[in-house]
Amino acid sequence: MLKVENLSFSYGKIRAITNVSFELKDGEIMAIIGANGAGKSSLMKCIAGLLKPQAGNIWFGKIKLEPPPFKAVKKGVVLVPEGRWIFPNLSVEDNLLLGGYIIKDQRPGLKRAYNMFPWMEERKTQRAGTLSGGEQQMLAIARGLMSNPEFLLLDEPSLGLAPLIVNDIIELIKMINAQGISILLVEQNARKALGIAHQACVLEGGKIVKRGSGKELSADEEIIAAYLGKK
Ligand code: ATP
Repeated sequence: MLKVENLSFSYGKIRAITNVSFELKDGEIMAIIGANGAGKSSLMKCIAGLLKPQAGNIWFGKIKLEPPPFKAVKKGVVLVPEGRWIFPNLSVEDNLLLGGYIIKDQRPGLKRAYNMFPWMEERKTQRAGTLSGGEQQMLAIARGLMSNPEFLLLDEPSLGLAPLIVNDIIELIKMINAQGISILLVEQNARKALGIAHQACVLEGGKIVKRGSGKELSADEEIIAAYLGKK
């Protein structure tokens, strides 16, 4: 279980997160929705150990998550960052191998990735920078799975992708979750995120202003007006 307790983080004088607390049960998807600048990426980076919060704690079971970030990866918590951060000049396979750098024998991880995404095996020597946006996002997620995580942090996985590809990414997230991996999902496509989330929180100005099940928030008038709009 992931437990975030009274977390606050500032960049110098700029407050990004204020007193955020929530729990995510094993095997669940939690969606975090909120406008630009609400603090979503900062929250993800704190959990992944990339930022050190000024106050509060993050627990993954009995383990405290804190910098340096490889500690989280070793414990099975992996961030797939906004913007994908794939290495464009490296091959598809080398990008995958970088995701499993903490694991000695990478063959089972590669096999799993290629089973999940047969096109990656066919194109394993292709430069990653020549893949489409959707393919690059899938590669970023596959790379995140290489260290065999229990818990995946997905920051804006559908950003900049065409609607049909967004559906593929959402289906992929459901499939990964069905394998027992818990997921914290930050997504600007709030309707789609709430559609697959067991639980959800709304961040505004660094604070959680609403929480509930994905279904509840999808039907909430305020959420519809602010984040979902017309169908
Ligand atoms: P977006 O969807 O635009 O990525 P977000 O919800 O992820 O937004 P954050 O990126 O976490 O929000 O930003 C929260 C606040 O912290 C914003 O006011 C932002 O301007 C500020 N901020 C983010 N990164 C930095 C930084 N490196 N230095 C200073 N301020 C920052």
